[in-house]
Order: sequence, then structure tokens, then C-alpha cells
Amino acid sequence: MSALVPLRAQLASLGSYQSLQAEAEVRLNTNESPYPPPVTWQRALAEAVGDVDFHRYPDRDASGLSRAVAALHGVGAGEVFCANGSNEVLQCLLLAFGGPGRRALVFEPTYALHAHIAGLTGMEVVTETRGADLRIDPDRWPGAIERADPDVVFLCSPNNPTGRTEDPDAVAAVVEAAPGLVVVDEAYGQFSSWSALTLRGAHDGGPEPAGDGGEPAGGPQPAGGGAEGLVVVRTFSKTWAMAGARLGYLVADPQVVAGCRAAALPYHLSAQTQLAGVLALRHENEMTERVRKVADARAQLAQGLGELDVETWPSDANFVLFRPRAKDARDVWSALLADGVLVRDFSTREGLEGCLRVTVGTPKENERFLEALAGALR
Ligand code: PMP
Repeated sequence: MSALVPLRAQLASLGSYQSLQAEAEVRLNTNESPYPPPVTWQRALAEAVGDVDFHRYPDRDASGLSRAVAALHGVGAGEVFCANGSNEVLQCLLLAFGGPGRRALVFEPTYALHAHIAGLTGMEVVTETRGADLRIDPDRWPGAIERADPDVVFLCSPNNPTGRTEDPDAVAAVVEAAPGLVVVDEAYGQFSSWSALTLRGAHDGGPEPAGDGGEPAGGPQPAGGGAEGLVVVRTFSKTWAMAGARLGYLVADPQVVAGCRAAALPYHLSAQTQLAGVLALRHENEMTERVRKVADARAQLAQGLGELDVETWPSDANFVLFRPRAKDARDVWSALLADGVLVRDFSTREGLEGCLRVTVGTPKENERFLEALAGALR
């Protein structure tokens, strides 16, 4: 007789990882772009979708898209793995290189999905806390790496939800010291002045993806340059304004890419998603323009927050972390929602007690938020 079985322990606490969704006029809770993608991209996509052979499976290795991403970063197509959002990139990476008997090191508070996905694959997750400036602490991270001897170290730069970019020298030193992979999650990398991609040494580009259903050509080859274990993860969800398209990628040694391809389901990336990515990469200038607009709006938001009774942290991303000084954060969150503005509540997360996070919106949305916050703090 069949029976229900208990949920896997790693999933039992899933609720705490999910961001609360609520109807709101102004949604500033999930760090999306406040602007839709360029109309020219939308038109090009609509036209090109008409030519897709939907009765055929898509290119299994997303070779055209990988080549386009590789060209963007000046790396080889064999160093690029694309998936349905950077969350799926991380999932494939950890299915391939995590799992039972392996250890991940995370620096909290950070993006909760790193520890969550690592735990889902059966990894042991070791936690170290950040320094007072919410970056990795030079007095603590070397000891943490030595004690944990991790298979995978997670960095997040700029870090979500705290907003700061890691110091380039610190990231280089972690890459040097870590015994295994160092994953630098750069979901907000385009907002930052520095990318860990610059730490990748001389490389030969790796084998080309074979395209249409074939196995990757050639054997794995080392990237060289002393940063073989460096994995940089990026997404189209933020600056590229394509959260709804679900597209992310990593740049890493071809052996890492081959591992991710082995872990991914066959044909996981649909033909239209691949197309959306290839066409988006032809609009790099518009995307760069958005980064500037969002950075300007962030300055406006930070200035407005500075005039209210809240503590704030500097941000290199498209969100700002803040803590009401005299009011309970949960009450402020509820008052904002009642006023039609949804932000993200981190007030019960360890290390972020009393904190809320607001995504940078359009100048009008930011004004709305600041007005609602002023009201909520009165
Ligand atoms: N990494 C970080 C640091 C994020 O903040 C997010 C989205 N909130 C992701 C990865 C996942 O992004 P996506 O799956 O949309 O690419």
C-alpha cells in the first residue's frame, strides 16, 4: 500500500528561505530592474520566436548563447555554462561538485540560497560571520577556511542583502587560500566597479560546446593562471531586466563547465530562453545605460533615507539595507505594505536583526517609498 513519506529534512525549513509575496502597488522586494527590457529587444524576440523549430529539442549545450556570453567577457565558450537563472546555475554546480561528504563555507549574512542549495545536495554547510562593515573579515576568513577545509567557498559581491562589493585583494587572497572551488556570485556585478572575472588568469578558452545534442567536444583543459577553482556566477535577472526570462550563467574552468553540463537535465534551457539571451546581448549599451540610471536613483534613495530615522549601509548594488532606529522593523514593514509599498523584511535573520531591504525603483517609486517610510516612522 502506498503512503506519504516525510519531507526531506533539508526541505523542512524551506519556508524561511522564501521571500514573502504580497500584492502591492510599488514592489521593491526582489531586486528586479524597475525598467522593462528595451522595446527593440522585445520586438526582435517576438519576431525570432516565430522562426523557432518548436517540434525539435533545443541546442542542448546552448552553444550560440555560450559563445555570445563568452564574447561579452572575452573568454572561451567552453568556459561558460548557462541555465535557467543563476539559481539553477548554482544548483547544477553543487549537484556536480557538492553532495554528501563535502563541505561548503558561507559568510553570513548573505544570499540564503547558497547554504540552502548546498544543504539540499547533502553538503555540510559551515558558517562564518562577516566583519563590522558586512564584508568578509580579514581577521577571520583565513582561519575559517583553514578550519573548514571547504570543497566550495561562497562569496557574493556585491553581497545580497548587505550591498557591499568585496575588496578585490581579499577575493584574490581567498582564491589563493581556498583548497577547492571559490564561487563568486555576481548577480549584482554590473552595478559594481570591479568583477572577480579580472582574477581569471591566462586561459586557452576550453573546448567549444558541440551544439545540438552532442557531447562537449574534446577533454577538459586547465584554465591556468592559478585561479582554476574560481567560478563567477552572473544573471540576466537584474541589469538585463530579464528576471521573467530565467537566465543565468557561470564563467569557470572548462572542467567545471563539463561537470555542470553533466548535472543539468538534458535540454534544460528552452529554445526561447536561449534566443532571449542571444538577442539581449546585442543590447549591451541599453543595459549599461540602465546601470547608470539605477545608480543615480540609488543615490537619491540613499540621500532620502539619510534624512530619516534609520541606519543605512552603503550599497554597490540595486538595493539598500536599512534599520529603523526607533520603531520595530516588522511594524514599519506592515505600515509600508498598508501604504502600498512592499520591501523585504530581514528583521528576524541572524546578523540582520531589525533590518529591511529596499530595491532601487524608478525615481517616482523611490519617492513613494520615502514618503511611505516617513509616515511609517512617525
Ligand atoms: N544570487 C544572488 C546574490 C541573488 O540575489 C539572486 C536573486 N535574488 C540570485 C542569485 C538568483 O537570481 P536568478 O536565479 O534570478 O538569476
